[in-house]
Amino acid sequence: MPEGPENVLRDENEAPPERLLQIIWCHQRLRRDRLRTADGQAVRILHPGFVSVEGGPDFRGAVVQIGDAAPRAGDVEIDLRAGGWRAHGHDRNPDFKHVLLHVVWEDTRALPGAPPVLPLSHSLDAPLGELGLWLKNESLRALPETFRGQCCVALRGLDETRQGRLLEAAAHVRFQAKAEQFRARARHAGWEQALWEGLFRALGYKRNVWPMQNLAESRSHWTRGRESALTLQARLLGLSGLLPGECPRASGDGAGYLRRLWDGWWRERDEFSNHLLPRSVWRFHGLRPANHPQRRLALAAHWLADSRLSQKLEDWCAVEIPDRKLSGSLRNVLEVEHDDFWSWHWTFRSPRLPAPQPLLGNSRVTDLAVNVVLPWLWTRAAEGGNEKIRQLIEHRYAAWPPTQDNSLLKLARQRLLGVGRSRALRSASAQQGLIQILRDFCEHSNALCENCRFPELVRGWSNLGIQT
Ligand code: SF4
Repeated sequence: MPEGPENVLRDENEAPPERLLQIIWCHQRLRRDRLRTADGQAVRILHPGFVSVEGGPDFRGAVVQIGDAAPRAGDVEIDLRAGGWRAHGHDRNPDFKHVLLHVVWEDTRALPGAPPVLPLSHSLDAPLGELGLWLKNESLRALPETFRGQCCVALRGLDETRQGRLLEAAAHVRFQAKAEQFRARARHAGWEQALWEGLFRALGYKRNVWPMQNLAESRSHWTRGRESALTLQARLLGLSGLLPGECPRASGDGAGYLRRLWDGWWRERDEFSNHLLPRSVWRFHGLRPANHPQRRLALAAHWLADSRLSQKLEDWCAVEIPDRKLSGSLRNVLEVEHDDFWSWHWTFRSPRLPAPQPLLGNSRVTDLAVNVVLPWLWTRAAEGGNEKIRQLIEHRYAAWPPTQDNSLLKLARQRLLGVGRSRALRSASAQQGLIQILRDFCEHSNALCENCRFPELVRGWSNLGIQT
């Protein structure tokens, strides 16, 4: 049976599942005026932080005051026992170096060198059984109302048109910044290279952006004109350090493919040794199987094998496409019809899938469109003085359908707009606008929204005369 809060309570004295402890922390169902660390210092929780969406400590950006020290912003890790700090390897993991409070169930002291421990077993605001039932339907992803941003009231006071225009304006800033990045890179490395770097970065999908960028930057050293997708897969997987360490002797599923990669890579390895990446630069924690860098590199190899890719993108830009077909039409350009191995596997080690899976999903197409393809094409058009194409691309950016929800968007929506869904977020560009506000304001403030100018800007926006 899953360890949901509802299955918690066999015995009131028994430790709850860690997930329930996390939900209790998230909703602060605690006697907050009596919190003390295991060594007796008073603790004030000014903000519990935001549940981590990318691994590492459970909550990021909490604001906590311990004893007489000034309040500090940092992370919070939740474990059942203080010993979990070492047992789970947090003491050796650099992602945990900003943890300022280790929240546990049992009343035990912190280990030497570990952050202060805050035991919760005697500090709940209701019996554990009651909390288990109350929190049954609560989610870790749902931000309690009391912890919404200070801009939330002002934003919710805007009508839908004003909210939409505000997000549009923020999206425009984001688009311009990306376009400028392409322009600057193209000036030094050429348009084609700037495009490849953008495509590789997008395939890195948050956690592996830098190794992907690194591979793309050395592209001129490891490409030699027309080459097959298999040759390029061997090379990219070899260069990335992601080719499995040994060539398989057995003849299981995929062994033939892996042997062909090894045959190709062994012949070339010395030639490209200056551009090899260590496997340790890649991040795998919290990755969906479809986003595994091995699979992403396999896709990149197919794109590289197509010497006309940039021309195809320009052609795509020149034809008329109804708004509702935008995503599908770009997908047609970027999609790989079939790959004998990667259509059937998430990684080298994963078993054969029951049905083939596309190498490019819809949400990745949107990501590529708003972050790479549209800003790259727009900058080219702007540089070439092609006003018509520039306007067409701006229209496509504004009309692009929204991407699949993700944890960052969910948190932003709840913190800023105080809603689970918003009609103002009907397009990918509106979602981009919301992310830009996070980058420009939330990332320069803290969970308490200290010194954030955005609420004031929103109030000013509500007084603007906008035609509806
Ligand atoms: S930091 Fe600023 S933009 Fe972010 S939630 Fe707080 S008030 Fe809003």
